[in-house]
Amino acid sequence: MTVTGSLIGMYHICHRELWLHANQIRMEHTSEAVAEGKQLHERTYPQRAERFREIELEGSKIDFYDPHNKVVHEIKKSDKFEHSHIAQVKFYLYLLRRNGVEGATGVIEYPKLRQTERVELTDEEVPQIEQWVQDIQRIVADEHIPERLKKSKCRSCSYFDFCYVGE
Ligand code: SF4
Repeated sequence: MTVTGSLIGMYHICHRELWLHANQIRMEHTSEAVAEGKQLHERTYPQRAERFREIELEGSKIDFYDPHNKVVHEIKKSDKFEHSHIAQVKFYLYLLRRNGVEGATGVIEYPKLRQTERVELTDEEVPQIEQWVQDIQRIVADEHIPERLKKSKCRSCSYFDFCYVGE
């Protein structure tokens, strides 16, 4: 199975969401959220498209990569799951490094909050990322679906109705 940046992000939020998504169980809301994310990208970068390339590395798509400055840009709506956004960008930097691009950095942009967060990948973090990849493969291959999170943490999740139907 290919571990993508999106799966890395889910791994840092909810293993159940990771399992559902990776096993192709999708909710309508998921595609709406993806479309909304794309619109946010387009609104934020209408005139900067020239500078960025969409690249694909080992099955992961990086929407905005600036090859000249070696910077991955990731745009997010809110910083609620910032730790997962950072993990996702570190994973992209890891993939770049694996594919011969040394010294790339990342920037997470929160246009609605007018905030940015710089991300770097250190040598010491590489084994940790490889551990995430192994964990994800194990979780997704398990025939048992992981436990739910506490309901209070699930409000914005597209699987909310699936997980809490009838409650
Ligand atoms: S609703 Fe909660 S438990 Fe279910 S997948 Fe989403 S975050 Fe995980």
